[in-house]
Amino acid sequence: MFDPNKYRADFPILSRYVNDKPLIYLDNAATSQKPKQVIEALTEYYEQHNANVHRGVHTLGDESTKLFHSSRQKIAEFFGAKAEELVAVRNTTEAVNQVCYTWGESRISAGDVIVLTELEHHSNLVPWQLLAQRKGARLEFIPVDEQGRVQWQRWLEQSAVLLPKVKLLAFSHVSNTLGTVIPLQEMIAAFRAKIKNLTVFVDGAQAAPHLKINFDAWSADFYAVSAHKMLGPMGIGGLLVKKSVLETLQPFLVGGGMIDEVTLIKTTFAADLEERFTPGTPDVAGLAGWAAACRYLDAIGMEQLAEHDQSLVAYTLEQLQQLPQLKIIGPASPVSESSGLERVGSVAFLYAGVHAHDLGQVLDSEGIAVRSGHHCTMPLHEKYHWTASTRISFQLYNTRLEIDAAVAALHTVEKVFGV
Ligand code: PMP
Repeated sequence: MFDPNKYRADFPILSRYVNDKPLIYLDNAATSQKPKQVIEALTEYYEQHNANVHRGVHTLGDESTKLFHSSRQKIAEFFGAKAEELVAVRNTTEAVNQVCYTWGESRISAGDVIVLTELEHHSNLVPWQLLAQRKGARLEFIPVDEQGRVQWQRWLEQSAVLLPKVKLLAFSHVSNTLGTVIPLQEMIAAFRAKIKNLTVFVDGAQAAPHLKINFDAWSADFYAVSAHKMLGPMGIGGLLVKKSVLETLQPFLVGGGMIDEVTLIKTTFAADLEERFTPGTPDVAGLAGWAAACRYLDAIGMEQLAEHDQSLVAYTLEQLQQLPQLKIIGPASPVSESSGLERVGSVAFLYAGVHAHDLGQVLDSEGIAVRSGHHCTMPLHEKYHWTASTRISFQLYNTRLEIDAAVAALHTVEKVFGV
């Protein structure tokens, strides 16, 4: 059985005190903490290897270039993809915008339909809204039910007239607010069976930290991830693109590093995909740090980590159900007999009569970090008339004792606010 205590010492920040209490970090869906292996990869790069890639015939340039390629290789492998299918970006938000501006600009036209779900993070909603406005296209939303499940089968059955116009399906693999897991392969297969030439974009920001991603084995064209949510550094992320799709795309950013020939009048782009989609100086340190995070996760094993996450989710649901003032949102249990894995990474809830920000402060005074607010899913909150919610979210270093401490603090809320 996985023991989180064996790994906690790898995360220097976990020995911090907050408000004179040992830090309990339960805001991992916003960003995870970093093990020393990742921090060391960043500092080692700047202390030992820093030089620009590809452009110098000197030892440091050579080392940096090798590290750039080996890091990309490791990260791509981690996601079951080829290195050339990894377009490095700053984060998931940038990845979505890139798809809108490259793929979307040339493939979406007036009257086309883009299908999203009601639970999307603003990052997987706002860029599509603007694309639809620019093109005169339409957004359609697959509803979410009271259990936080995405009703995609029903939507497919009821939307037959729309289907010939659907060009794109874009959805979150795991919801950052409800924790809902979408059965990715099953859903994509069902959509592809009914819609010809469908393109599929998956927001994997919350899935990548907890589930094994097999990009090449799955039938998604695009899969976006952020390193910072999976123990890696901030400011680096990936847009995975199937090679056959990437070959047809215009680069989003153009300039140095990605060209074949340049004259004063015109330019041809590098044939090599990695080069063509790496404009300017890459974030080599970020890639090296992210690769270190992938190695760290691999050494433990994503399957084992997923089990640990499931046990924390189940335990939290159980403990929170004992507080009558709380209403848990999202699927009631991490797994169901009918659908398999239903919930991953987090548990969010409402507390009758107390605002989420006030709850957040009570917990912070105990050294416990959780997230309060709309979690960048305002439309979902609006649908259910939630003003805000409180979210507890997990990483491999979290323990049941930490959850007990959070629940104990929530038990004091009644007294503090007199509700
Ligand atoms: N999608 C989902 C589901 C998310 O949870 C997040 C981060 N909260 C994002 C997209 C955006 O990620 P980033 O801020 O790293 O761009």
